[in-house]
Amino acid sequence: MQFTIARTLPELRSALDPLWPEGIAFIPTMGALHAGHMSLVEASRQYAPHAVASVFVNPAQFGPNEDFARYPRALESDAAMLEAAGVRVLYAPEVEDIYPPGFATMVGVQGALVDELEGAHRPGHFAGVATVVAKLLMRVMPRAAVFGEKDWQQLCVIRRMALDLDLPAHIASVPTLREADGLAMSSRNRYLSEAERAIAPLLYQMLKEIAAWLASPAPRNEDILSGAAQHLLASGFTQVDYIALRDAETLGSPQPSRPMRLLAAAWLGHTRLIDNVAVSG
Ligand code: AMP
Repeated sequence: MQFTIARTLPELRSALDPLWPEGIAFIPTMGALHAGHMSLVEASRQYAPHAVASVFVNPAQFGPNEDFARYPRALESDAAMLEAAGVRVLYAPEVEDIYPPGFATMVGVQGALVDELEGAHRPGHFAGVATVVAKLLMRVMPRAAVFGEKDWQQLCVIRRMALDLDLPAHIASVPTLREADGLAMSSRNRYLSEAERAIAPLLYQMLKEIAAWLASPAPRNEDILSGAAQHLLASGFTQVDYIALRDAETLGSPQPSRPMRLLAAAWLGHTRLIDNVAVSG
């Protein structure tokens, strides 16, 4: 099966032209691909016969002091992995292809969904995410787009945006793929030193323990969240941005008999890890 790398919108359009009638499932990424990304490719099969992926490190979703410049880039091996997985088209545009001179429109999801948790620590992040995802969906016009639960808040924001803007693609999601010790796979894990990598799985272990405790009949107590943060700090994490229990869809306060999600972000030196787990009420 033919594999095409498209670097510009016209190249993308001619590569997608023969695929549209049968249907496309789309996997947007920032590259430096790992098995977690490939599980999205695998899942995409159930939504359409042709898989199309993008690799674009989107400057609009990085703050001025974040890791845009040093974010890992590995286009050659990304392309090889996608081709081997049967992806038909890799769209890997330059920044100017997505944001040409004069570009002046941002997609702004409003409210707590974007202002809290990641949004509180990364101002403007979700405007950058929503804008690029909206543009990519318009360009690729897939039947479905597949996202990871790893970035739970991002998934909620994209679902909200797709609903509010009547974007025709189905927004599908895939559970977080983890290393054997529980650490959520992430392109940023390669920043971790050996010592940090040894501590990193504690974030998921804490989330799982808290989720199990919250699901038990013991009375609910918010102190458990600050206790967990203290434990992470005592174990070598250098900063805890948040550990929060939220409604799984609106990310507002938990509501009786609605699904909940426990979300966390914490630093190990210069590396920021995020993770989340379901909580049964
Ligand atoms: P990124 O390249 O980090 O922007 O991620 C691209 C897509 O892959 C997003 O939808 C992520 O949520 C998803 N993703 C990243 N890591 C994982 C993982 N460990 N398991 C499942 N999906 C993931």
